Amino acid sequence: MLEMQRLVLGVCATNCYLVRTKEGVFMIDPADDAPAIGNALAAMGEQRPTVLLTHAHFDHILALDGLNARAVYAHPAEEAALRDPRRNASAQLGMPFAAASPLTPLEDGERIGPFVALHTPGHRPGCLCFYAEEQGVLFSGDTLFCGAYGRLDLPEAQPERMRGSLERLFALPPETIVYPGHGEATTIGQEVEGWGW
Ligand SMILES: [Zn+2]
Repeated sequence: MLEMQRLVLGVCATNCYLVRTKEGVFMIDPADDAPAIGNALAAMGEQRPTVLLTHAHFDHILALDGLNARAVYAHPAEEAALRDPRRNASAQLGMPFAAASPLTPLEDGERIGPFVALHTPGHRPGCLCFYAEEQGVLFSGDTLFCGAYGRLDLPEAQPERMRGSLERLFALPPETIVYPGHGEATTIGQEVEGWGW
């Protein structure tokens, strides 16, 4: 079992996950509200989390620069969106935001702590899911939700790549617990059944 906390943050009710591992606390998507995240980290006895970004849409990164992160990992295709309010879709909402934190690139198949990075383009070109095989847990970002997948109508979405990405996730063991970027958890088995693929 992973010791984990979920915070639901910001205008899009985005999930921010804090996961304790042997290598310290990993944070998946610092969505918003750095003070709230700081309090949750303090309660876990961690001051410098390692940040994993599922992708660079603004609602997943707003607290990034307010953390004293050990390192920030993301797919290299997300770097430009991190720095560009139009690409990260914050400009379209009238709240332009750009992050300054340096990125460490993470490619498909690379390991970090208990996770392997799965590149799942579609919602954005550099979407990553983080799969902890031993614990049977997947952090799916905005690629797969409970009963839905991520929007394909935002700038730089790649609708033609989404099906392949979902099929890759659906090939994981059915008992895998899926923690998405928005909403409640699901399992791979429940999603495969619901979609009839
Ligand atoms: Zn998104």
